[in-house]
Amino acid sequence: MSAIYNRVALIGLGLIAGSMALAMRRDGLAGEIVGTARSAETRAVAEEIGLCDRVVGTTAEAVQGADLVVLAVPVGAMAAVAAEIGPHLKTGATVTDVGSVKRHVIHSVAPHLPAGVHFIPGHPVAGTEQSGPRSGFAELFQNRWTLLIVDDGSDAQAVARLTALWQAMGANVDTMDAGHHDLALAVTSHAPHLIAYTMVGVADDMQRVTDDEVIKYSAAGFRDFTRIAASDPTMWRDVFLTNKDATLEILGRFTEELFALQRAIRTGDGDRLFDYFTRTRAIRRGIIEAGQDTDAPNFGRGAVKE
Ligand code: NAP
Repeated sequence: MSAIYNRVALIGLGLIAGSMALAMRRDGLAGEIVGTARSAETRAVAEEIGLCDRVVGTTAEAVQGADLVVLAVPVGAMAAVAAEIGPHLKTGATVTDVGSVKRHVIHSVAPHLPAGVHFIPGHPVAGTEQSGPRSGFAELFQNRWTLLIVDDGSDAQAVARLTALWQAMGANVDTMDAGHHDLALAVTSHAPHLIAYTMVGVADDMQRVTDDEVIKYSAAGFRDFTRIAASDPTMWRDVFLTNKDATLEILGRFTEELFALQRAIRTGDGDRLFDYFTRTRAIRRGIIEAGQDTDAPNFGRGAVKE
């Protein structure tokens, strides 16, 4: 495939940027990929494993002459990075980001970008619980959604080019506004992560009472929470601090439902429990039918111990 951008700058070299670099290199989607990260250690690893064509020491150097700049740092670090790169961006360049929250990133980044630069915020809805420069893989975005935030002021050509890049990396692309994104992701990602963190925290407290049973019998369901709860602490702290309203709205609804189910258990309302679980089972079927997960029992991990 021919290059979609002549020079791409990756700011931050963790799971997402690393996966983008590998996907772009696999298919020759960028003439040159220049990367930088905050620590010398991450930059050294990126050099060692050949993640980019060039690894440089500063963000200013990285964005020099870049046609596409990708901000792939935690949401809370976006403002500082944008302030650093603003004066060094090429006129006509596109700046995008991969942050999990969109309204806050837009408020943090947009004021630092000069006129003549196209800002198209983005979010690949794909990830794992791993982080760092060694965690990326080229197939991460395959058949996953990337959401681009566009409005009336977005440059159509710049949006089309960025869309083409994500599609070439295997993603399906949707566009929406930032407020809608933040509420939708609070439901599908942010609140579930908080619930997983809480469940693992409760089990950890219990473990002091029940010895190692929490680990021993984890295949009964608990271990699926532990995968989510092993996600990067910096990233998730920033997500909750910056998508506060939407997350609190969903958690409020969650708490009401939890109380209702608690009451059904207390009063022995089996019909209510059965109907509720029947409805939620259908959601899982919908995800499988949409090609967003495997239909193998227990995620294909073999026998289910329950
Ligand atoms: P990651 O693997 O932890 O990598 C983060 C990168 O950002 C590292 O290169 C790190 O540099 C750099 N960084 C961290 N703090 C910084 C700071 N204060 N200033 C400048 N650079 C800093 O993270 P990731 O999973 O790729 O996530 C990157 C972005 O993608 C986040 O905004 C996240 O919300 C979003 N996202 C993540 C996922 C996911 O599942 N992980 C999915 C979709 C979107 P050092 O290594 O030198 O510290």
